[in-house]
Amino acid sequence: MTTTTPRPASPLPTSALASSTPLTSAPVTDTVSINTPPTAELPVITARPGGSIDYELFLDCVHCGLCTASCPTYVETGNENDSPRGRIYLMRAVRDGRQDLTHEVRRHLELCLDCRACETACPSGVQYGKLIEPFRVEMEQAGQGGVAKTDDWFHKYILFGLFPYPDKMRRALVPARLAQRLGLEWLLVKTGLWRLLPSRLGRMATLLPKLARPGPPLPAFLAAKGKRRARVALFTGCVGDAMFRETNWATARVLQENGCDVVVPENQVCCGAIHFHAGSSEPARAMADTNVEAFDASSVDAVIVNVAGCGSMLKDYGHHWPGNGAAERSALADKIRDCSEFLDDLGLIQPRGEIRLTATYHDACHLVHAQRVRDQPRNVLSKVPGLKLVELAESELCCGAAGTYNLTEPEMAERLARRKLDNIRRTGAQAVITGNAGCYLQIARAARMEGEVLKILHPMEVLDLSYRRLPIPS
Ligand code: SF4
Ligand code: SF4
Repeated sequence: MTTTTPRPASPLPTSALASSTPLTSAPVTDTVSINTPPTAELPVITARPGGSIDYELFLDCVHCGLCTASCPTYVETGNENDSPRGRIYLMRAVRDGRQDLTHEVRRHLELCLDCRACETACPSGVQYGKLIEPFRVEMEQAGQGGVAKTDDWFHKYILFGLFPYPDKMRRALVPARLAQRLGLEWLLVKTGLWRLLPSRLGRMATLLPKLARPGPPLPAFLAAKGKRRARVALFTGCVGDAMFRETNWATARVLQENGCDVVVPENQVCCGAIHFHAGSSEPARAMADTNVEAFDASSVDAVIVNVAGCGSMLKDYGHHWPGNGAAERSALADKIRDCSEFLDDLGLIQPRGEIRLTATYHDACHLVHAQRVRDQPRNVLSKVPGLKLVELAESELCCGAAGTYNLTEPEMAERLARRKLDNIRRTGAQAVITGNAGCYLQIARAARMEGEVLKILHPMEVLDLSYRRLPIPS
């Protein structure tokens, strides 16, 4: 809770929205028209979100604007209100009572991907995630005309009712797998029939990767190979385990090759990011507490995560919910390591199998910006014999996946995906390597929609193939 009295608003205009012109020389366009109903239908919210945020965090921003060029939404729209600096202005002005939480303000804040590229760029150390995340939770709690955005069928039955539960997800994917076998998925994309489905369902249908029959679940324990160097737990995820179980197997095998005993707690659940980033904090906290019980952080050297978004959420357990249980959540957060971060620290055992491939590496936002894991995946991949990595322009600019953003903000997500795909094409690489399931789905969809098949691999899959001396599957 804040203990700081807001400073007088001398440098800030009474309307944060009105600040867009003096703050930037970039052309100002109206992004609130993106995927949004007419303003007149929606009432202004009188509640003042942001009250739980430490006020000093707003004051860290000195309005220098050095972050704007790294912000994907600002790069696309050129609107100051879609930049980190503009959004910090808006949140602070709403909190201070100098700006109403109008529909326009809401849209500028909803359009933020929470990619945290602004944190990497900011020389003043602004902790943007600690501003936007609680602000959006409170904004959601304030509701819109008494109805929260998360009260709709899509949040209730799909995002909150299906995605966090891998068993339910696997059952729901059975008809999708059948449809793929019958070629219906191809028909949907080729003919544009997907556009006739409700917008978010249509996008979900086109996001699905080629669905293989799910392999067996990971056992509760996998023993280290050779000399034992560490004991780790593996976080298997929800959507990740339902769609990419092979990546979990690959991660476990790579850890074994590197002398790690791997435990896979059976009672682990979704990290809570889906709920939390949609502004639904309490169910996310309940999931965090279940994971605290399931992982017993004191019994392992590290808890390994292979999905950037989940890793980022798990590392943030310590500060999201102060109060009851915070110490236990912090203890788990302190043990969380991205798989490549952990292996690079441990010292990767040299893989021997040659992988004849030219690939490029896409930095997942929640790895490079939120977790500051940039060099480690490149370091471990550089040890794979035969693999040639070529740099990707704008590698650190979000591809538009951003958790469930590509379902809730399709227009901006699509613009960013096309931009990413263009940059990938320019590298001439045969494959893209990335450490986040969401990026995989988003980039693969962008290629598929343009009639291309793009090979996308997780760093652990590449290492696993090399350790097992297997070729890249066609
Ligand atoms: S967030 Fe950082 S980089 Fe951006 S305007 Fe504020 S101080 Fe400058
Ligand atoms: S989190 Fe990403 S989209 Fe949001 S303001 Fe920062 S750079 Fe822009």
